[in-house]
Amino acid sequence: MPATVIDGGAIAAELLMSLREDIACSEHGAPGLGTVLVGDDYGAAAYERRLRHLAEGIGCHYDHRYLPADVELAEVLATLGALNADPRISGILILRPLPPQIPEEALYRRLDPLKDIEAVHPWNAGLVALGEPRFTPSTPAAAFHMLDRYLLDSGRKPSEFYEQSTIVWVGRSNNVGKPGMWLGLERHATVISCDRWCDEHGRMRHFARQADVLIVAAGVPNLIGADDVRDGVIAIDIGINPVTDPETGKVRLVGDLDYDGVASRAEAISPVPGGVGPITDVWLFANTVKAAGLPRWVHELGQPR
Ligand code: NAD
Repeated sequence: MPATVIDGGAIAAELLMSLREDIACSEHGAPGLGTVLVGDDYGAAAYERRLRHLAEGIGCHYDHRYLPADVELAEVLATLGALNADPRISGILILRPLPPQIPEEALYRRLDPLKDIEAVHPWNAGLVALGEPRFTPSTPAAAFHMLDRYLLDSGRKPSEFYEQSTIVWVGRSNNVGKPGMWLGLERHATVISCDRWCDEHGRMRHFARQADVLIVAAGVPNLIGADDVRDGVIAIDIGINPVTDPETGKVRLVGDLDYDGVASRAEAISPVPGGVGPITDVWLFANTVKAAGLPRWVHELGQPR
């Protein structure tokens, strides 16, 4: 049987429709998203353009701050401070990657925790780890939303499925892989984490083959091929890698899976583009709307800025 291709665009379109309704019914006025991009990374700039477009489409106030790659840390912190203080902004996203002189942890600690829609401030990351998220980070949330939808559509109860399943996460960044593992643990799945050291020591295949659900977020094209997975795996590809076609010079996006190879063995697979990405985008706005509804008096009770 050919693998089911999970259509992230269709799932995102449904989510977007209900988000529009939420915004229309909201008593808290329009949400506002602030984005900070340092430098000229291709993927980050493309992501920023998508968010701008979405913000316009749903009537969300949008404030983008671009800073050149050689900017000093103090200027980035000042920019964050301005967004923290702006009452029109309910959520802030720091786009990655950042240049080497800008340590991301230093920025995350300065984010207003009530505007930290990606849960990167230590307080919010801690709440996700404890299973009590104020905001669920958009990418792992999107991966699990996609999985839940696929399981329901294929006649399974997600909670029962996860309890009996092994989820292997490849990549463990603070933004994607680690919170993704916490979300898997909350669902009582058996969770295995593989990172670059696992790969370098030739151990990836051993673990990846144990996956009922394989979720890959490493940023390495063709990291996982047909021989690395078991028959019937559900494979979720989070990776987004720009690859230049040597003949045409055109850039196209690929994931971390060898798509055809893994699809030849999988029960289901998410494509790149058109998989987790569009759901992530909408989730980020859902968190921005949620942030707009957080009571402002909490700010006045001495939350650190
Ligand atoms: P990151 O660079 O911060 O982290 C990548 C992780 O993968 C790290 O833990 C790294 O050690 C690990 N890794 C690197 N090489 C590896 C290897 N050979 N084997 C195993 N692990 C390896 O990146 P990130 O922000 O976590 O994003 C990962 C990928 O997902 C990127 O391609 C990014 O563009 C993409 N992404 C997609 C979405 C989406 O919505 N689809 C959202 C965020 C990020």
